[in-house]
Amino acid sequence: MSYHITRDYIRLGNSRSGQKLSGVKFIVSHDTGNPGSTAYQNMNYFNRQQPSASAHTFVDDQYILEIIPVDEKAWHVRYNITKDNQLYGANANDAAIGVEFCFGGSINFQQSYNRYVWYHAYLCQKFNLDPQKHIVAHSYLDPSRRSDPQSAFSRNGVTWDQFIKDVRNAMNTNGGSSSGGTSSASSTNGWRKIDSKWYFYKNGVKQTGWLLDKSKWYFLDSNGVMQTGWIKDDGKWYFLDSDGVMATGWKKVNGKWYFLDSKGVMQTGWLKDDEKWYYLDSDGAMATGWKKVNGKWYFLDSDGVMQTGWLKDDEKWYYLDSDGAMATGWKKVNGKWYFLDSDGVMQTGWLKDNTKWYYLNSSGEMATGIIQTDGNYYALKDNGEMLANTSIPVESNGALKI
Ligand SMILES: [Zn+2]
Repeated sequence: MSYHITRDYIRLGNSRSGQKLSGVKFIVSHDTGNPGSTAYQNMNYFNRQQPSASAHTFVDDQYILEIIPVDEKAWHVRYNITKDNQLYGANANDAAIGVEFCFGGSINFQQSYNRYVWYHAYLCQKFNLDPQKHIVAHSYLDPSRRSDPQSAFSRNGVTWDQFIKDVRNAMNTNGGSSSGGTSSASSTNGWRKIDSKWYFYKNGVKQTGWLLDKSKWYFLDSNGVMQTGWIKDDGKWYFLDSDGVMATGWKKVNGKWYFLDSKGVMQTGWLKDDEKWYYLDSDGAMATGWKKVNGKWYFLDSDGVMQTGWLKDDEKWYYLDSDGAMATGWKKVNGKWYFLDSDGVMQTGWLKDNTKWYYLNSSGEMATGIIQTDGNYYALKDNGEMLANTSIPVESNGALKI
């Protein structure tokens, strides 16, 4: 028979100093003196009220609940009694574990007692104690004021001697190896699969929320169930792989790419990665092709990389500035002028711009000087304007008179 030890510690305060025990020399057995109060009710009371009194462990018919780590001090015996010093050479609060028996009300006595016995056997094995010598009743240390735990035991006719005998029997049935009790408790740590769902236990307590295990992050919902896929937490999106591990960096999900930063947060908007720019839509999906952002057009290739410079798309040429924004109007590139219309398309041939005519050759470069086209000659100034009504004889349409 083995029971689960739940470790749910109260905060530091009057009830829990955090000071370490000077080793575990003995166990003091108590009852709560408060019929019907459960292990967790006691835990909540000590956690909130923080009286200058406490005990390590409360046992009822459902829980063996350690509320103070058993290597820390608890305040469960008066300092100015002397029996503990005579028997063990130390004050109980400095060298003993205090265990409280919860009883009465709707608490099933036998279930609570079985756990209480088992837990004493577990502690004796863990700290190499002899039940006969090293378990002492609170009433034995402080007889003028206390009668526990015998007062609770007597409700069901259990004597102190019977209790010690039961602890010894429990130690024997816990198995030959003295580590039996310890290993049953440590098995309550780590991952457990129940009904094809994964849970994580720490000191016997089912964990919820974010969990760091072996330098990987996991997310456990409010029921402790390990999550996979997209989750939203505190307004941010995260992606958890099929094994529950939080993803970082680029991640392809249902054919779309997403980027999770080093904290796992899904990114949106512009992203610079490895000296390249990417654009992530408001749903986090990486954009490809043309994308309008804040009134400007950008082009992301099939890998999502933002393009700059000349771009040929659907047999049309476009020019993307060094910041990726699609150019319109006149644009000087490598010393040559080009004209991109309002859709960004590079123009060729004759262009009328603000009453002036210009000529853009087949590669889009603005022409200057004398050109021949349509069977005529035309004269263009250095700034590309076609000459008209000058001393050079030209037709009204700009053709030279030869
Ligand atoms: Zn007591």
